[in-house]
Amino acid sequence: MKAVLYRYITGISVLISLLTLAFTSFNPNEGMYPLTEVRNLDLEDAGLKIPVSEIFNQDSVSLMDAIVHLGGCTGSFVSPEGLIITNHHCVFGAVQRASSIQNNFLENGFLARSNAEEIPAEGMICKITQSYEDVSELVLKAASTADDISEHEKVVKDKINEIVKDEEEKDPTIEAQVAEMFAGEKYILFRYKVLRDVRLVYVPPRDIGEFGGEKDNWMWPRHDGDFSFVRAYVAPDGSSAEYSVNNVPYHPKKYLQVNPKGVKDGDFVFILGFPAKTFKNQSSQFIKYQYEYQLPYIQELYSWLINLYTERGKNDPEFALKFSSRIKGLANTEKNYRGKLIGIDRLNLIEKKQKEEKYLQEFIESNSDLSKKYSKVLSKIDYIYKGIFQDGILPQFLTQLNRRTNLYRLGEIFVVYKEQIQKPDTDREDIYRQKNFQKLTGRIKSLYRDLYPDLDRQIMKKILNDGIEHEEISSLQPFAVFARSMSPANRVNSFVDYIYNSTFLKDQDKYFELLQNDKINISDLNDPFINFSKQMEDIQKSYNERNENRENKLNLLLSDLSDVKKMWLRKSLVPDANRTLRLTYGYIKGYSPSDAVYCEPITSLKGVIEKGKESADYKLSEKLVELYEKKDFGQFADDQLKDVPVDILYNTDTSGGNSGSPVMDAYGQLIGVNFDRPFEATVNDYAWSPEYSRSIGVDIRYVLWVTQKVGGAGFLLKEMGISQ
Ligand code: GLU
Repeated sequence: MKAVLYRYITGISVLISLLTLAFTSFNPNEGMYPLTEVRNLDLEDAGLKIPVSEIFNQDSVSLMDAIVHLGGCTGSFVSPEGLIITNHHCVFGAVQRASSIQNNFLENGFLARSNAEEIPAEGMICKITQSYEDVSELVLKAASTADDISEHEKVVKDKINEIVKDEEEKDPTIEAQVAEMFAGEKYILFRYKVLRDVRLVYVPPRDIGEFGGEKDNWMWPRHDGDFSFVRAYVAPDGSSAEYSVNNVPYHPKKYLQVNPKGVKDGDFVFILGFPAKTFKNQSSQFIKYQYEYQLPYIQELYSWLINLYTERGKNDPEFALKFSSRIKGLANTEKNYRGKLIGIDRLNLIEKKQKEEKYLQEFIESNSDLSKKYSKVLSKIDYIYKGIFQDGILPQFLTQLNRRTNLYRLGEIFVVYKEQIQKPDTDREDIYRQKNFQKLTGRIKSLYRDLYPDLDRQIMKKILNDGIEHEEISSLQPFAVFARSMSPANRVNSFVDYIYNSTFLKDQDKYFELLQNDKINISDLNDPFINFSKQMEDIQKSYNERNENRENKLNLLLSDLSDVKKMWLRKSLVPDANRTLRLTYGYIKGYSPSDAVYCEPITSLKGVIEKGKESADYKLSEKLVELYEKKDFGQFADDQLKDVPVDILYNTDTSGGNSGSPVMDAYGQLIGVNFDRPFEATVNDYAWSPEYSRSIGVDIRYVLWVTQKVGGAGFLLKEMGISQ
């Protein structure tokens, strides 16, 4: 009787959970759809006015051909002459590198009045998706030969590398990538054309391109002109080439039509872009780990580093310029993580995911076949996470020590180099191979160039002091030297002073001399810093081994988890972002970030002026104020606003990497450039929320108005086919 009753209750709760999920998890705007899935969406019903085949079509030209992956961001061609629109923050690093105190393009903006005046956007590479192909069968066939889990992952990786190598050998002009859409299930091969000569064309001044700076970053309402233009060049024969004065503008297969009329509240929009990484298909344990370790640790450390660099730059303009890009990157992540921590709380996300897993488990157990195959999946995931939680911040600690302190990094390179040269050349890590010695030398020199020993020492103290609170780090051997009589902070600080004071690592010439002297081993040196590096390197290695083992197991378990989840939800899941081309769609839509507050989805020039008058954090460009006072809006004023629209808000599903993505209207015409999300929406990387998930773009009318009226570059509007 009891068993019958139990089955009855379980059956009901599974049904209830199914119904709840059917309503709560389906949302037409959720999802970064891979192009292979787009045909299964009812985009016409959603508001699209062109056939899906015009968005992507392997057999003929489509919008896909106008979209580029641009140095970690997205961009789109907007003219037949290779003109690309992207975000100001995507070219920020390149503009900083091209700037000097005397010629500060970052602060004052940059405009090339002719092709000859365009300057290289150093470090920016442009990739265009040429074609894609499902290679799951090939990969899975290879995987089926593996005997155990670690072998399985190795076989998959080897097969992927083999496919990539074959493709690139078949056609040396392309770059290939095999993207894992779902581990153990779907693998797509992408072929990209790579353009290596990208040049700056028009970059608005910083007080427009980064209006509101960090204060407004990840915020709505927003008034940021976060856009810039660059141009892609190729060799005269059309092939990809490094920068050369002889290169010519690239003629794309397709460029976007710009719609200078823009959009209004409620309009359908869609985005094509390259979102980098999301975690929506991960378990509750993953979010819990992020919430307890990754996010708070990084957020606090970055906030400390930003403060350190900013203070240092106050009396040293050269340092301030050199570190501007780094500070910006740190601040961007710091605020994003702060938003995520709040978002996880607000959505009660960990508990929600735990509940979902509980219902899923009930569903599995309600069917004996499913039970046989999947009943242990969740408990196995929990078990692996026990180990991950035990390691705590160890992985972040090791990574940050390496990334943030140049001397430590130099020590690590030294130690690994000495180990690697014991091996035959072909068995070494790539960067330590003979043929790459120049590259390694360049890396070392740039670490010395950016070495500020006093800062470096402070940062190391900070990272070690934070780490020492955790048992796995405090018990490391190097600290034991100073263990007994001192407080933990004194122990760490004395240790750092001791190794910094006595190491040869600060001396670049000595470094190269010892590095290249084959007769010198690490143990001969008796250098306390190097000894420390060596011990940390061993810790890193053993962590990597543990981690690889866990990752291998987790990958397969997550694959099982999504299999059974699909059966439970009776729908396919959207793969998490992985830097491949995706489509997302939604509507221009306001939102309510907190109780009784409603935000409109379109801001205007009036708001720029208001912010500028209110606070010194908002710098107003003189020219912009002058034009506003004269109401010189040209053709770009909105009928209802009687003003130039500046930024737009819409409920698409975007992430980092979608920066610079074209926002298109129902006809596939460009009406904005995506650049951000509101603070409350940063949690969108973990879970979609109809209330909070929103994306922010710069309205194309502001782009055109600034370019023409403020920048004096009306010729670019002409190039884009906008009549003036
Ligand atoms: N503004 C974001 C960033 O810089 C990119 C877009 C997004 O994450 O929504 O990371």
